[in-house]
Amino acid sequence: MIIDLRSDTKTLPTQGMLSAIANARLGDDQEHEDFETTALQDEIKRMLGLDFAIFLPSATMANQIALMCQVSRGEEVIADEFSHIFRYEGGGAAYLAGATTRGVTTVDGVLEVDQIREIVTTQTSEHIRRTALISVENTHNTSGSTAWPMDRLDALMAYARDVGMPVHIDGSRLFNAAAFHQESPARLVQGASSVTLCFSKGLGCPAGAMLAGRSDQLHEAPVFRQMMGGSLRQSGILAAAARYALQHNVDRLADDHANAELLRNRLADAGMPVVRHPRSTNFVFLDVASLGISGEQARALLAEAGVKWSAGRSASLLRAVPHLGVTTDDIVLAAQRTIAALQADSS
Ligand SMILES: *Cc1c(COP(=O)(O)O)cnc(C)c1O
Repeated sequence: MIIDLRSDTKTLPTQGMLSAIANARLGDDQEHEDFETTALQDEIKRMLGLDFAIFLPSATMANQIALMCQVSRGEEVIADEFSHIFRYEGGGAAYLAGATTRGVTTVDGVLEVDQIREIVTTQTSEHIRRTALISVENTHNTSGSTAWPMDRLDALMAYARDVGMPVHIDGSRLFNAAAFHQESPARLVQGASSVTLCFSKGLGCPAGAMLAGRSDQLHEAPVFRQMMGGSLRQSGILAAAARYALQHNVDRLADDHANAELLRNRLADAGMPVVRHPRSTNFVFLDVASLGISGEQARALLAEAGVKWSAGRSASLLRAVPHLGVTTDDIVLAAQRTIAALQADSS
C-alpha cells in the first residue's frame, strides 16, 4: 500500500464524516435556508469570539475576499514574501483586490514589529498610498508549518492596534497552531479584523473554508462572494462535513504533530538530512542536496518505494505531511521505506 504524505489536503472523508454529510439538513444558502451552513457560521463566530462568518468553497477565496473588503485599489498589504496570500493565489491580490503587495523577508514567516514599524505607511500622500492591512499566516506554510510564537504575535497585534491597522490572519491551519500552543483558537485571533480557516487540510473535509472577522470590516463579503461565484445552494453538504470535523478532527491534530516528530526522529537517527524548523507542527522536510540527487529524482525513488513525498520551497527540499489518513504504524513504515530508498541510492 502506498503511503501518501504529499499533503494534508490528501485526506479523504471518513465513514463518520460521510454519514454526517448523508444526514445534513439542507436548504438554499443563498436564501439563508441551509441549516448546516448557518449553524457552522454561528459555531465559528462563537468559537473565535468574532461577530461575522461566511462559508466559502476555499481558503484562497476567503483570503482574496478579505483583501477586497479591506484594501482599496492601490493600497498596500504587508505580509511575509512567501505567504500564500501573495505567492500561491494566482496573483489575486493584484488582479482582484488591486493591492500593492509588500513582501517582507522573515525568519519562519514571523513579521517582527521593528521590521513592520519601519515600512508601514499610515497616511496616503501624493507618492505613497497608505498601508491598509497586515497579513499574518499561522501556521506558516512554506517555512515548515511553523506556529507563530505567542509573544511575537501579541507584540504585532499590539502594534497594529496602536496604529489602527487591521490585521488579517490566514489561519488555514489555525487549529494546528492552537494545538501546538495548547491555546484556544479565539486566543490566537484576538484583535484580528479577519480570519481565514480551511476545512480541507488536516481537518479532513473534501472542500470548504470560512472567512470570519469583524462585521464592520467584512460587510461587503457577501457581495464579493457572489461576484466570485462562491455563493452556493445546498452548501450544507460541505458545512456538515466541517461541523463533523470541528467535533472529531480538531483534538486529533496533536497526533499528526506527534507523527511528524516521530518521522523526523526516525529519519535523523538513520542519518537522513532532516531540516528542522523551530515550532514546526505537521510538516517534515528532507534536503537531499547532500545525497547528490535532485528533489525530483528523490521523489520518484520514494514513490517507487511506496511513500509519496511532495516538493518543498526549493529544488532539493522534500516535504511529508502526516494526516488523519495515516496511522503511527504507517509513519514507522514510511520512515523505513524512505531510509531504504535514499540510502540505497546514495551508497
Ligand atoms: C492551503 C492554504 C490556503 C488555500 O487553501 P485552499 O482551500 O486550498 O484554497 C491558503 N493559505 C494557506 C496558508 C494554505 O496553506
